[in-house]
Amino acid sequence: MDLSYTPEEERFRERVRKFLRENLPAGWGTTNYSLNNRTNLEFLREWTRKLYENGFLGMSWPKEYGGQGATQIEVAILNEEMARWRAPAPLNYMGLTMTGPTLIAHGTEEQKRRFIGKILSGEELWCQGFSEPGAGSDLAALRTRAELRGDEFVVNGQKVWTSGAHYADWCFLLVRTDPTAPKHRGISYLLVDMKSPGITVKPLRQMTGEADFNEVFFEDVRVPRENLVGRLNDGWRVAMTTLSNERGTMAFALAARYEIIFHEVAQLCRDIGAARSLTARQQVAQFYIDLQCLKYGLYRTFSKVLHGETPGPEGSIAKLWWSELDQRMEEFAVHLLGPGGQLLEGSVRDNVDVGRWAMGLLRARCLTIAAGTSEIHRNTVAERILKMPRGR
Ligand SMILES: Cc1cc2nc3c(=O)[nH]c(=O)nc-3n(C[C@H](O)[C@H](O)[C@H](O)COP(=O)(O)OP(=O)(O)OC[C@H]3O[C@@H](n4cnc5c(N)ncnc54)[C@H](O)[C@@H]3O)c2cc1C
Repeated sequence: MDLSYTPEEERFRERVRKFLRENLPAGWGTTNYSLNNRTNLEFLREWTRKLYENGFLGMSWPKEYGGQGATQIEVAILNEEMARWRAPAPLNYMGLTMTGPTLIAHGTEEQKRRFIGKILSGEELWCQGFSEPGAGSDLAALRTRAELRGDEFVVNGQKVWTSGAHYADWCFLLVRTDPTAPKHRGISYLLVDMKSPGITVKPLRQMTGEADFNEVFFEDVRVPRENLVGRLNDGWRVAMTTLSNERGTMAFALAARYEIIFHEVAQLCRDIGAARSLTARQQVAQFYIDLQCLKYGLYRTFSKVLHGETPGPEGSIAKLWWSELDQRMEEFAVHLLGPGGQLLEGSVRDNVDVGRWAMGLLRARCLTIAAGTSEIHRNTVAERILKMPRGR
């Protein structure tokens, strides 16, 4: 593993820090201020625009499509600094991490010219239409149908958990185009205008009180044939590109993010006098050990990427480790605070860091479901790393 930086990379880091110092609003990073703005659309639009104008979006994309042709390590440095400063992710997260890279790999020249610039500028926001009520972990079981009629597909069906569909302009959608083929075949990948007649978006409220996800219904929705990405019935291969993106450049960011949460937990222990308790001290020490395991595991995978190798199933270990560590740390903090730890911001009674830990705990529940559930990742570790027989 070799993750040392060249002088140019150090200069790039300085440039990112300067940008963050000058552009994050005053008070940013004090927990509640950041949490409250996380769902403020106008604030996020403005933030995304600033990132774009400073060349910090789609940095590794080819220059001909508006990228900077930056290296993987520069992208990782940007992500790491953003995490350290708790800067919000750009609004068009799905477009930037999924649609753009997928179109660069599989799109036609017309699709690249039509969509990529507007993904970068944030003019068009995207959502991901993959999961369905009967197709989540087993995504290939999806049933939303698209029939090719002349130059158009006609789409009917339902998607669920579609993050950001309530404000997205476009959706990358997996549909079944050949119901007679084996389930991983017969799937196609379409780009769908969310303003098309026949689309209904219904928000789903989460236990945090927020509504980030939606059900999306398609009734005779017409999609031009030129919005097919890749070949007809070959959408599974295209979808794999979408899902395998980021390729480890989030490693530094994840390590930085959980380091911050760890230090907040340790500080909480000091603030409320729990640092004197033997059990609390043992627990905090264990979090520190877990954090180091996570960090060096992530760095090792990223080092592989830098040397031109493709990360393997060890990505499942990292996903299990960070999502479950986050949940354990948030849960521990709420326990430390006692019954009052469950109060959310705005409650009648004040508490240390009021609302921050309770909200963090509620938000962390989804981490072991999104991007593959913990059970599915454990299956991957069992079968592909430990070579155990396939479960039924
Ligand atoms: C925060 C968040 C954002 C999301 N955003 C999007 C989005 O924008 N677009 C989108 O398309 N989807 C999105 N999803 C959906 C996500 O991809 C699915 O929730 C996930 O794939 C799990 O599918 P499911 O919810 O249908 O659960 P299921 O697959 O029905 O699983 C239910 C339970 O059974 C377990 N299980 C299933 N199969 C097995 C097995 N073989 N072995 C052992 N246990 C098993 C699972 O681990 C789980 O505990 C999002 C989810 C979350 C939490």
